[in-house]
Amino acid sequence: MAYVIIPPLQSTLPVRGTDELFPIHRIYCVGRNYAAHAREMGHDPDREPPFFFQKNPDTLVPDGGNFPYPDKTEDVHFEVELVVALGQGGKDIAEADALDCVYGYAVGLDMTRRDLQGVAKKLGRPWEIGKAFENSAPCGEIMPEREFGHPTDGRIWLDVNGETRQDGNINQLIWNIPETISYLSGLFTLAPGDLIYTGTPSGVGAIVKGDVMKGTVEGVGEITINVT
Ligand code: MN
Repeated sequence: MAYVIIPPLQSTLPVRGTDELFPIHRIYCVGRNYAAHAREMGHDPDREPPFFFQKNPDTLVPDGGNFPYPDKTEDVHFEVELVVALGQGGKDIAEADALDCVYGYAVGLDMTRRDLQGVAKKLGRPWEIGKAFENSAPCGEIMPEREFGHPTDGRIWLDVNGETRQDGNINQLIWNIPETISYLSGLFTLAPGDLIYTGTPSGVGAIVKGDVMKGTVEGVGEITINVT
């Protein structure tokens, strides 16, 4: 059977050290997963159960790409995050088995229309308009776990125009990678190609047109994105 319209393109990310592509299925994001960031957003960083939201695979922007300043907002924030790329999925995955599902890791930016997210929070509405807009999920190349291992400790930071704005360590994750995968797999059926943005350290802030954002996770990689 022929398609009645042209099927959408498969979103992909390059894999470091190869000429191969990692195909993207879904994008999950963890909210408030560093205590210092929970505090700066006005929340108690006690270990409440993790919560999640999603972005759409076609909102990815590759390393070196442009982030066009979005419409309907005057307060767009950066959030640098360690991203987990799943090579296997499943339901109700045990913490002890969770790392077996990981294909690799990357550095991503969870771009946020903070003003629209703030209104949604206040009114108890969904977060999509603040979180899942066009180009809202920049992500760098994927570092395959088979070559580089599972990072558990390493500086995570973000520079804007060469000035460091966010600075933390992935050892500060409230819910670590196996816990996050296990918990998420109880809520959704995870699949190969899923990305999980694992949350951001403190220091989130606004960008303007012309800014250059550079996010880095020590031992994982980096991403540079131009605000246009
Ligand atoms: Mn985030």
